[in-house]
Amino acid sequence: MAVLPIYTDGSPVLRQKAQPLTKITDATIQFILDMFETMRKANGIGLAANQVGVLQRIIVVDISEVEGYEEMKPAAYINPKVIAERDKLVMEEGCLSVPNIRDEVERAETILLRYRDSNFKIVETELSGLPARVVLHEIDHLDGILFVDRLSPDKKEAHMEELRKIRIGEVDVDYPVVTAPNAAV
Ligand SMILES: [Zn+2]
Repeated sequence: MAVLPIYTDGSPVLRQKAQPLTKITDATIQFILDMFETMRKANGIGLAANQVGVLQRIIVVDISEVEGYEEMKPAAYINPKVIAERDKLVMEEGCLSVPNIRDEVERAETILLRYRDSNFKIVETELSGLPARVVLHEIDHLDGILFVDRLSPDKKEAHMEELRKIRIGEVDVDYPVVTAPNAAV
């Protein structure tokens, strides 16, 4: 397995739409394992393929280290799609591509998710609370959306200076990154 560098805000690949997979190959499985390795190295609980520079609709989630979610198995979701949602919940979020910024975002509390598993079998599952939150955040990535886009104008304003620094490549993290000035795609 390999730890892949994570693209930070300002990199064009974070603003592009990832494409659905039509099949799974050995390379796909290897890539998913690398995504898990990359997410863990960065102490993240979710990662989307765009964040490592790949425009495929794949996300990985592992919240088993979060108190209360020890039973939640790590999962890869391929071509994930929300087919129903209900209730709203405000929760604080952060993002490995927007380091050291955290703020509250409102999203659906409960979702019905349809996706393909690592055997490319279609699965439907209901997620609520933190698992739903992480999946919604990661699906946004696949659509080129960052959580800071969802902040109210005054909250966004409060993070302007930090965002400006990230976008010019001033990023202070202990995991490998590709910052915007170095992002080729
Ligand atoms: Zn993120």
